[in-house]
Amino acid sequence: MSSKQPVTVIGLGPMGQAMAGAFLDGGHPVTVWNRTASRADTLVERGAVLVGSVEEALTAGELVILSLTDYDAMYAVLEPASHALSGRVLVNLSSDTPDKTRAGARWVTERGGIHLTGGVTVPPSGIGRPESSTFYSGPRGPFEAHRPTLEALTGTDFRGEDPGLAALFYQIGMVMFWTSMLGYWQAIALADANGLSAADILPHAGETMTTMPNFLSFYAARIDADEHSGDVDRLAMGMASVEHVLHTNADAGVDTALPAAVVDLFRRGMDAGYAADSFSSLVRLMKKAG
Ligand code: NDP
Repeated sequence: MSSKQPVTVIGLGPMGQAMAGAFLDGGHPVTVWNRTASRADTLVERGAVLVGSVEEALTAGELVILSLTDYDAMYAVLEPASHALSGRVLVNLSSDTPDKTRAGARWVTERGGIHLTGGVTVPPSGIGRPESSTFYSGPRGPFEAHRPTLEALTGTDFRGEDPGLAALFYQIGMVMFWTSMLGYWQAIALADANGLSAADILPHAGETMTTMPNFLSFYAARIDADEHSGDVDRLAMGMASVEHVLHTNADAGVDTALPAAVVDLFRRGMDAGYAADSFSSLVRLMKKAG
């Protein structure tokens, strides 16, 4: 009999499978449930117990990990067995918006459970690695009580008691990830139109990205001080540059939706009277959503 805390994992997509696997590796007794039961096969071979109902999954132990597509899936899965939520600590590692996670936390609390929100910042291959990180938020006491077990998955980064905070930090990372990667795809399309492969531009692309942390810290201090003077860069100069980017892509015959959206934002900044200010003044526009 293991002395480690029993854990239930509900949801066995790539992420839930990796998580259940990491708990097994850590010596935890693991109970699993998934809508499509066959996704538990490998885990069962490794010692997990597959149960036939959500109620059995919830009552197998105190700590229940959810790894579902989103919070709507949580309601779909838990609603019919919600009487079994009382006394459970639900660690919801499904992604969704901060508002949806707050509503989900209320829903669980109203049924007598404790809800911790999680935002996993790594793909399944990063699970089981202490150097990986997951944002958590919700009631601190239950989080601290279960932190040692959760550390079988990744390192933990507790952001506060508001259940939406973990989702917020996760989404902050995701908006940067998606927009940055689209910038990279655009660069690859432009390179391809000019006979260059992704591998050809990789060193230059990588070098460009390594300069970004310096820009982030330089502008963070100024933006927090609402300092947008054009002493280092000017929006008007940036306007000319982003138009060159748009025309270079148009000339190459590649899709221009992304560079055109960038030009549109710069133009709105010019129209708002920020021409002589830093291009960080665009943050003011973005804060006001137009
Ligand atoms: P998947 O969408 O592949 O897996 C989803 C799981 O949710 C499956 O077990 C699926 O069951 C179940 N599910 C979805 N809808 C329902 C429903 N209506 N009723 C019952 N079960 C349902 O996601 P991942 O495993 O990749 O990820 C899980 C969560 O982790 C997501 O929120 C994702 O955003 C987040 N995440 C994922 C990362 C990744 O790289 N994969 C990285 C960081 C976060 P079934 O098997 O029956 O279809």
